[in-house]
Amino acid sequence: GNHRVRKVSDLEYRIDPNPDRGMKVPVTIYANDLLISKMVTDRTIDQAANVATLPGVKKHVVVLPDGHEGYGFPVGGVAATDIEEGVISPGGVGYDINCGVRLVRTNLTESDLRPRLKDLVNELFKSIPSGVGSEGAVRLTKAELDELLVEGVRWAVRHGYGTEDDAEVCEESGMMAGADPASVSDTARKRGAPQLGSLGSGNHFLEVQKVDKIFDERAAKAMGLDQVGQLTVLIHCGSRGFGHQICTDYLRVSESALRKYGLTLADRELACVPNNSKEGEDYRKAMYSALNFAWANRQMITHWTRKTFERVFKAGEGGLDMDLVYDVAHNIAKVERYKVDGEGTRDVVVHRKGATRAFPAGMEQVPGKYRGIGQPVIIPGSMGTASWILLGNKKSLDLSFGSTAHGAGRTMSRSAAKRSYTAEGVKSGLESKGIYVKALTREGVVEETPDAYKDVDAVANVSHSLGIATKVVRLVPIGVIKG
Ligand code: 5GP
Ligand code: MN
Ligand code: MN
Repeated sequence: GNHRVRKVSDLEYRIDPNPDRGMKVPVTIYANDLLISKMVTDRTIDQAANVATLPGVKKHVVVLPDGHEGYGFPVGGVAATDIEEGVISPGGVGYDINCGVRLVRTNLTESDLRPRLKDLVNELFKSIPSGVGSEGAVRLTKAELDELLVEGVRWAVRHGYGTEDDAEVCEESGMMAGADPASVSDTARKRGAPQLGSLGSGNHFLEVQKVDKIFDERAAKAMGLDQVGQLTVLIHCGSRGFGHQICTDYLRVSESALRKYGLTLADRELACVPNNSKEGEDYRKAMYSALNFAWANRQMITHWTRKTFERVFKAGEGGLDMDLVYDVAHNIAKVERYKVDGEGTRDVVVHRKGATRAFPAGMEQVPGKYRGIGQPVIIPGSMGTASWILLGNKKSLDLSFGSTAHGAGRTMSRSAAKRSYTAEGVKSGLESKGIYVKALTREGVVEETPDAYKDVDAVANVSHSLGIATKVVRLVPIGVIKG
């Protein structure tokens, strides 16, 4: 691109607002030298500058250290738009609405697992449906689905897929208020309903990991992570075809409403509607329904994961001590309040696209269990490197609309990975590190080679050094299921 990227400090870069390009606010990029050098090779920076032209965009558009190009908006980006004068954009949430991650702790250790690693991974693979069009084992009537779309995790808990404690440690308690199934198309229902309770494909995974290193003893303890070698389970998936169809539906709605609202766009992929329009309301109600779909989905997968562990480890009556540590969305938009330059505090719609909320201690949105320390942040890396648990810090409110990165971020396209790697090569590389992978397809393994991702430790370091979210625990994979 031809935007001038100015270095502000070792970890911060800026594009000043260029009125000729219609930019209303600057772009702030949080990255080290290497991470930014990757971003300037694709459309990440241009896309962020385009987002800075949206009506009602406030303060700055943020690109996080895992940023890379996406549909209209970059992935690893945050944009906040004024609730009254601003717009909401389906591309600012993404196709996989409430794609997110949850971490489950266990009271098992690596030495418990090693003798049954393959058994466990194979059993998990059997009990958790995965793959592109994969279908879950649960069939809901329209009325039941409507309940689920309003209640999210609460619905799942009510139907035996977990406990109240699980719901409490989800963002929004796993139930976004304001969802309305009446705004969801029949196509979305038809595509999505059969897929409830499935992982999906590609980058979605279920990973058995161990605690590799503890950086913040107090926070780790509060999360039930207190021992190096302790096993954890990380689940990454979203709203499947349901959310995808809602994004598709409302991109179409937004495109056809552009003229009516007098909106001209820097990029057609930024299609949007005013926050306070009928179309904006409808998208919000449908998108919130997809948030709840995804939360219920991850809760059901968690239930089957616990059952499988109990079977493989022959647990007694009380089961295993597999508490949910936290569940956080990374494709989401919702209303939050921030201090905005020169205007005091405003309600804005925060679009987090490939970005994780990172709220500090003391905020009412942080569950009681963590309110004294801050919200747990989960950053997956890859099936061959680390993943990180961080803690939201109050600097995030000033620097990044209460957000940090959501992953390592891709550095290599899927097609480039397929040209340069083989499934056998990737698998044997992982095996030499003691990691067992079970995937539905060979392509899945190749496209997801750890080499296709940026350095997740660097991403965590940037977040930590800026103080937006600080290091708690580093996790490494042992067994992975890939969709
Ligand atoms: P996204 O939501 O953008 O598709 O992916 C989130 C992040 O998950 C990626 O940026 C990548 O760093 C991470 N990731 C992808 N596959 C795996 C995996 O198998 N295991 C772990 N731990 N992380 C992964
Ligand atoms: Mn996803
Ligand atoms: Mn995701």
